[in-house]
Amino acid sequence: MSPVIPIQLDTGCQDAPVLRERGQREVFCGLTGIIWLHRKMQDAFFLVVGSRTCAHLIQSAAGVMIFAEPRFATAILDERDLAGLADAQDELDRVVQRLLARRPDIRLLFLVGSCPSEVIKLDLSRAASRLNARFNPQVRVLNYSGSGIETTFTQGEDACLAALVPTLPAPPVSDEAQAPALMVVGALADVVEDQFQRLFEAMGLKRVSFFPSRSSACQPEVGPHTRLLLAQPFLADTARALEARGAQRVAAPFPLGAEGTAAWLMAAAEAMGIPADRAAPVIAPARARAEQALAAHRARLSGRRVFFFPDSQLEIPLARFLSRELGMQLTEVGTPHLHRQHLAAELALLPAGTRLSEGQDVERQLDRCRAERPDLVVCGLGLANPLEAEGMTTKWSIELVFTPIQGFEQAGDLAALFTRPLHRRQLLAA
Ligand code: SF4
Repeated sequence: MSPVIPIQLDTGCQDAPVLRERGQREVFCGLTGIIWLHRKMQDAFFLVVGSRTCAHLIQSAAGVMIFAEPRFATAILDERDLAGLADAQDELDRVVQRLLARRPDIRLLFLVGSCPSEVIKLDLSRAASRLNARFNPQVRVLNYSGSGIETTFTQGEDACLAALVPTLPAPPVSDEAQAPALMVVGALADVVEDQFQRLFEAMGLKRVSFFPSRSSACQPEVGPHTRLLLAQPFLADTARALEARGAQRVAAPFPLGAEGTAAWLMAAAEAMGIPADRAAPVIAPARARAEQALAAHRARLSGRRVFFFPDSQLEIPLARFLSRELGMQLTEVGTPHLHRQHLAAELALLPAGTRLSEGQDVERQLDRCRAERPDLVVCGLGLANPLEAEGMTTKWSIELVFTPIQGFEQAGDLAALFTRPLHRRQLLAA
């Protein structure tokens, strides 16, 4: 059993300058989040109000999910809607009525806005409150925007969860209900959630909830007793909404890799008043297994140079993991948005001098990438093929969101996502 060594935070990149760019961007839109959210929230339905392009995006993104179930659809805005010749609100009511009559299993319906619905200024919050008045309590109707206008693809989850926060119950007024309770925030694969739940229980944490929950009937309570622990780094609006209801955020790195997961779990224990000498031995065996799983990947990745284009908002935690646990060298770490507070623990762990960029001016960034000639480029789908054609090895960042990567048991799988493209390139070159 390896001892759990607390992370020593130095300043790392906490005060490092950031290159801020505001030019053309190459990112997916927030509709993409529906693919993992609909699997997590098992009685929810996502109705995109958008164009045929939106429908194609969702269907092709869903196509990579072998076990995808049809709990999402697109209400297509056609030329008459776009030209203002039809009352889109009336049409939406008819679509929702038909859908709910056919699918009595739906308990939570999200109307998801898109670029076209925003361009024609279709007010989905008005539609949601009208439909809610009609169908609640059988079905709760909420809305959020998944549009790609000025957003990136993981913001869809943030917008969805932020829309849910006002529906979370407050705890009853009793001493027991006011005791600290941990809320893990961010959609995690069920297998990962179950692993964390077991570790929390073994550490002695009794009051733990996960948000979003699998069933809309069991939404977690939120109030001043809530200690909110972010499982994903892209939930700025959700965290703000929870904090407005009194929740207190637990500062921690994100649960990627052996080191990040250990620090994340220990931060949760501390916030819940569990002494470190009780929590640390519980997580030590799983951490040792994770470190062992990483050793083989470290041999292959150590010294290799990696370049991150901004896409998933996972870039900074991933860069920390690749650099500290696998010995990779960071040439540039780009992120769509840099939330300094939520990423403070991560920034402190990055090697001093790491080049950080926020936002994108894609041509300039491509020039910097070509000049660096990194061994591996982490980027969105739109850039991967052209870069591969130029002889670079790429990793699709969207795969890092679709794959369970958090926690000790997934640390080896996470590392494998980076060794695999390098191995493939080697085979092609042989
Ligand atoms: S929401 Fe916007 S970016 Fe996304 S598929 Fe629809 S039109 Fe394209």
